Amino acid sequence: MSVVALVPAAGRGERLGYTTPKALVPVNGAPLLAHAVRGLFDSGRVRHVVVAAPPSDVDSVRTVTASLAPAGGAVHVVPGGAERSDSVRLALEHALRVVRDVSVVLVHDAARSFTPPEVVRAVVEAVEAGHRAVVPVLPVVDTVKQVNSEGVVIATPDRSFLRVVQTPQGFDPDVLRRAHSTARDATDDAGLVERLGVPVSTVPGHQNAMKITTRFDLAVAEALFAGGGR
Ligand code: C5P
Repeated sequence: MSVVALVPAAGRGERLGYTTPKALVPVNGAPLLAHAVRGLFDSGRVRHVVVAAPPSDVDSVRTVTASLAPAGGAVHVVPGGAERSDSVRLALEHALRVVRDVSVVLVHDAARSFTPPEVVRAVVEAVEAGHRAVVPVLPVVDTVKQVNSEGVVIATPDRSFLRVVQTPQGFDPDVLRRAHSTARDATDDAGLVERLGVPVSTVPGHQNAMKITTRFDLAVAEALFAGGGR
């Protein structure tokens, strides 16, 4: 049985201020995507990674990821789609076509490049234990307000019941396939699975799994992960 990780990496990353795709922006001398893929393999649980690359950069992404797979593993690169969910769907279709006996599918944003391998392992183990959808989460430390379209506060949810969601998110392959065949418009894959009525379980996430979105995040990542550490 194989664990496959899908890595949607087809975003342009305009908020970082680069003209190259975000996945190829370097931190400590290696592209964000290379750090992310290495972290997945370092978990010791992932055999195949399918990267959805910007269609115009498939060759560069192949070059960047060519040497990252351990013996017996592989990195596959496919052209991504217009939206993140399209990229995930295209990567999933490829994975289910080329990899036999897929038992767990992870979906991991290239932008969460420094996710510790123990988070990857925890997600895989929870799916293997029978949870059909699993997300790593952190508690919310700020008070969160809900506002209306005028920006006026209309509610203050109890933050003890709120969580910030990270990746990799883990799924039973059939659940993820059904979720992507019925809906598209969610900001994460678990959001699509929730609409099927399938329970989504949680495991502890990690601060290092921060999403690198802005120049500020890039500077934080450079400082925190100097020397390539996680
Ligand atoms: O834009 P955002 O930061 O939410 O993107 C999250 C992840 O989805 C990034 O890793 C990005 O490369 C990926 N993505 C994609 N295809 C798109 C848009 C975003 O694979 N069309």
